[in-house]
Amino acid sequence: MNILLVEDDEPSRYLMTAILQSANHEVVPVCNGVEALDATRSHSFDLLITDILMPKMDGFQLVWRWKNDPTLANVPVVFVTASYTDDEDEKFAIELGADGFLNKPIDIERLLTTVEAVARISSTGKVCAPIQRDEARILRAYSDRIVCKLEQKLAELERSNMIIDQTTRELSDQIAVKSRLVDSLTHETDKGLAKAEELQKALDFNKLIIDTAEVFICSTDSAGRITLFSPGAERISGYTADEVLGKCASEIFSPPDQVKARRLVDEAIMADGLSVSYAEAWVMNSGVMKILRWSASVIKDASGSPAGIVRFGIDVTEQLYARGAERVMGVLDASILQNSPISEMLQLASDQIAHEFKMGSVLIMLFDQECGLELAAVTGRFSLKVATKTLLDTGCMRLADDGTPPVAFVVDLCDSQARSKWKALAQDPDVKSAVFCPIKAEDRMRGCLVALSGFNETASDTKIQSLGTVTDRVGTALVFAETREKVLLQSAALDWAGNAIIITDAYGKIRWVNTVHREMTGYFASEVIGKELFSADQGYAESGYRDVWNSVVGGKRWQGELLNKDRSGREYLESVTISPVFDSAGKVTSVVIVKSDASKSLKFERLKSDFVSMVSHELRTPLTKIIGYSDILESKMDASHEQYATAVGAIKQNAAVMRHMIEKLLSVTQLMAGLGDLKSQPVDICRLVEQAAMAAAAESGRRVEVALPAEACELDVDPEFIGRALGNLLDNALKYSPEDSTVSVVVERAGSCMSISVADEGIGIDEDRLEEIFEPFIQVDMSSTRGYGGIGLGLFVARRLIEAHGGEINVCQRAEGGSIFDIRLPLGKYL
Ligand code: ADP
Repeated sequence: MNILLVEDDEPSRYLMTAILQSANHEVVPVCNGVEALDATRSHSFDLLITDILMPKMDGFQLVWRWKNDPTLANVPVVFVTASYTDDEDEKFAIELGADGFLNKPIDIERLLTTVEAVARISSTGKVCAPIQRDEARILRAYSDRIVCKLEQKLAELERSNMIIDQTTRELSDQIAVKSRLVDSLTHETDKGLAKAEELQKALDFNKLIIDTAEVFICSTDSAGRITLFSPGAERISGYTADEVLGKCASEIFSPPDQVKARRLVDEAIMADGLSVSYAEAWVMNSGVMKILRWSASVIKDASGSPAGIVRFGIDVTEQLYARGAERVMGVLDASILQNSPISEMLQLASDQIAHEFKMGSVLIMLFDQECGLELAAVTGRFSLKVATKTLLDTGCMRLADDGTPPVAFVVDLCDSQARSKWKALAQDPDVKSAVFCPIKAEDRMRGCLVALSGFNETASDTKIQSLGTVTDRVGTALVFAETREKVLLQSAALDWAGNAIIITDAYGKIRWVNTVHREMTGYFASEVIGKELFSADQGYAESGYRDVWNSVVGGKRWQGELLNKDRSGREYLESVTISPVFDSAGKVTSVVIVKSDASKSLKFERLKSDFVSMVSHELRTPLTKIIGYSDILESKMDASHEQYATAVGAIKQNAAVMRHMIEKLLSVTQLMAGLGDLKSQPVDICRLVEQAAMAAAAESGRRVEVALPAEACELDVDPEFIGRALGNLLDNALKYSPEDSTVSVVVERAGSCMSISVADEGIGIDEDRLEEIFEPFIQVDMSSTRGYGGIGLGLFVARRLIEAHGGEINVCQRAEGGSIFDIRLPLGKYL
């Protein structure tokens, strides 16, 4: 069947053409009534299928014309419409002569069956004819349909417009929202991009840090095998990543005795899924042990189960050793403060050093002067036997010839040569190296610190340095402790010395007194410290001691007797020595006063002299008899008995010597007893000296030269006492010098004193015994001076006699040999 299909909507036209062709119909599709009528001119059709609402000429007009065209009127017509679907529309269509009326959307079945039904009708010639009505009525009906349709369309349009408006509004709202969204997305995207850039930078920076920072980054799998080893780890450990990757970390880095323990720790971290921070010693490629502060976290796999550990470690060895050294020093300081004995202090230091520096064993030994072992403190495996042997092996670590001490050093005990040298240490197979640090105190090698390690410490610079510092401090602490011990001993000695001791400052203010002072004076230390030495509180009469004090702070030592009162008011005589103490610049900084109760010693002196005079008297009587009877024997002796004559002569001579000695003893005791009773008078000193020199020359048969000042000089002295003192000096000068040598006496003025010096060219006196010879019964060299006779009282007496006059007597060596004794007598009123 040839079908003319009129449809303005292209998809509908295409669809219906396809449906109809699939049912073997020929179809000519056109777009409107005008084209349809045109098509009839070139084709003949069996059926017209037309839409109603179309541009140019709608379906109603087309069918109106179709049915009024006699060539077409028998060709059946079917309307297909989506717009004219009312009953009125269908009715109008039928009035126009339509054979079928289909609504859109197209139902395939209905289209085909309608087409077939119309075809059957057409074949029977019963095609619908248009209802014969007048044209005006048709036109009115047509215009009604059109108007109705237009109204419907208008209403539809309005509705559509409303919908469009609403949709437009909604759309524009949506567009606004979307554009905002787009804006914000764009913004977010920009931000995201910036973030991504930042992230990348951060990642790059992190990588830079990981690569360059001194951080030991290392990860291990669940079996403890190394899976990542950072450049920092390479630098710190000395291993390359290639060397350690895939190997078990605890086996490479743990100290040998800790491999198992480390593995257990790793397992615990994994099991608990912990992030932990801890410090641990790892052994580096060089064998050196470093302390690393670790921060370890568990790595989890995709399912969340622990798959390994990642560790970040910082080398804190230096800080730890520095802190360790500080702690050791703290221990030393504390034991000094607590006055601990030296042995205890060294033991504490040794224990602390072993602990802080992770050294298995530590030995601190002190040498004695002969390089023997004086004291040893041991920690760990050291025994005293090993210590002594080690001491022998060290060769006592001496100072170098230029006085520099040896420096700390490490011995690698894995080295066979070293093992043979350090036998005692090498015996222990677990000891891999030993550190030796010299202990120096006051420019002397005092000892040595030996620390044993289970590692090779040859490269542990930091550790050795810190150990060296600590050992130096041990030396300082030692000096301090020894000085303290010395001071304690000295102060105990001073406290309990036989004499009372007072120390004042340079202004006479008492700073310290000893225990004997309290026993002697009755004053407690707290009662006198801070007081003036020569104050009424101290029992001294306030006046009269100014001169003594002034001469002491002027730099002179003063010795003498002072009258004092003890706390109970008892008066007593004290024998006092007041000595200035100088600083390095020669300035008097303090004064030391040593005193003893002279009343006691006076009593003893008196007892002694009583005893001497009694014995001398008692000896004189039998001696007189010996001399008398030996005289008789001599006069009665026959000249032929030469032997007996010699013997009697010897008895006489020795008896005479004895009598001389006894006379001297008696005269000394008498003299000393009368010391307090000076018979001072104005005396011409030059004359006195001349007389003494002449007497000595006459007795010895030798020459004595005398040099006197131009003008005569008078002094208030006891002439007998000064003559006796001078005589003793002249006797000695002649006695201890050769026969042919000269003894000379010089009198001259020396400041506020008169000086009388006696010089000889004799045997002289040793420099260190110059003071001693003024003590009673002292003779410089008993063997050599015995030949000169004497009893060692001459100088003692001379000094006491001169001091009784407020003067002094001193001795010095002559450069050209011999001695010079110098008497100084104050000029007093003759000044
Ligand atoms: P002595 O009776 O022994 O001479 P002194 O008290 O006079 O006793 O002297 C003490 C000691 O001093 C003497 O034994 C002597 O060793 C020494 N001595 C004294 N004067 C001199 C001198 N001028 N030369 C050498 N030695 C002297």
